[in-house]
Amino acid sequence: MVGADGLLPLPWLAEPLRQALATQRAHALLIHGPQGVGQFDLAVTLAQAWLCEGTAGRLPCGQCASCRLVQARSHPDLLVLLPEALREPLGWGSQDEGDAGGDDKPGKRKPSKEVRVDEVRQAIGFAQTTSARGRGKVVVIHPAERMNGISANALLKTLEEPPGDAKLLLSSAAPDALLPTIRSRCQAVSLGLPDAAVASRWLTERSVVQPEVLLAATGGQPQDVLEWIEEGIDATQWVALPQQLARGEAGTLAAWPLPRVVDMLQKLCHDAMRLAAGAAPRYFPAAALPAASAPEALSAWARELARSARQAEHPWNAGLMVESLTQQARHALNSRG
Ligand SMILES: [Zn+2]
Repeated sequence: MVGADGLLPLPWLAEPLRQALATQRAHALLIHGPQGVGQFDLAVTLAQAWLCEGTAGRLPCGQCASCRLVQARSHPDLLVLLPEALREPLGWGSQDEGDAGGDDKPGKRKPSKEVRVDEVRQAIGFAQTTSARGRGKVVVIHPAERMNGISANALLKTLEEPPGDAKLLLSSAAPDALLPTIRSRCQAVSLGLPDAAVASRWLTERSVVQPEVLLAATGGQPQDVLEWIEEGIDATQWVALPQQLARGEAGTLAAWPLPRVVDMLQKLCHDAMRLAAGAAPRYFPAAALPAASAPEALSAWARELARSARQAEHPWNAGLMVESLTQQARHALNSRG
């Protein structure tokens, strides 16, 4: 998003935004890249640039009526399609309030993680109506891979021939999970990992302590770092975990969401394997890791973790699972070849 002063709060998006504006030739764009680096922000800012009434075709001015309407999430020519579960976290919570089941009490059912077909159909209808402010219509769909086969098929024809002056912006961290027919109908815009120094500075401005540790931990994804901080995970905890696990203690893991626990253990296993092979670790500082473990034990651990990753979304008993994962980790980290 663009701040009131017209500056991007995600400084690493300025260049990709300029490039996307300069090279855009299709009516449908697919922004792809790793998660946690601001794909959604890039999509919305690109939409803002197209709708901007101040500086057409360049960076959005952040000042005109159109820019203000986008920032207030109430531009009549912009539709942002998100799974229900992402609306609140991404700050688009008030979208589609009169929606199906609107009289349900909040919290009654789990919010959907999918982009639903009826919403895709609504978006197609929206794209076909006349632009209210005369600069076309824009539909943003994020994350595009959360459309199931039916939703994706509903969108195909519109992607092929967008009605009038409508533009479609899909963003995805998993473009391989999209139908090939969807991918081939979009112009690709790729977004890479931000420069580590730029990302560190941005996190420091947001009061993150030891941002470089958490950037390494998340694989260089600054928005994921902020999400971790909100969940109560900090650099001190992260660095302490390998030794705690080597002693068979779950430590702070017991309070984490299970998929996050398994992800952490997979990163630790990955780093332990690198260490055993004489390479530098990637996700943990070298000093935080126990001495090199036996490669066969690490391979067996990696296989067990892959199995656990499949169960982590629907565990039968999260507490017991963390306990058994902790003992697996202790065993693997203490094996010596
Ligand atoms: Zn503007």
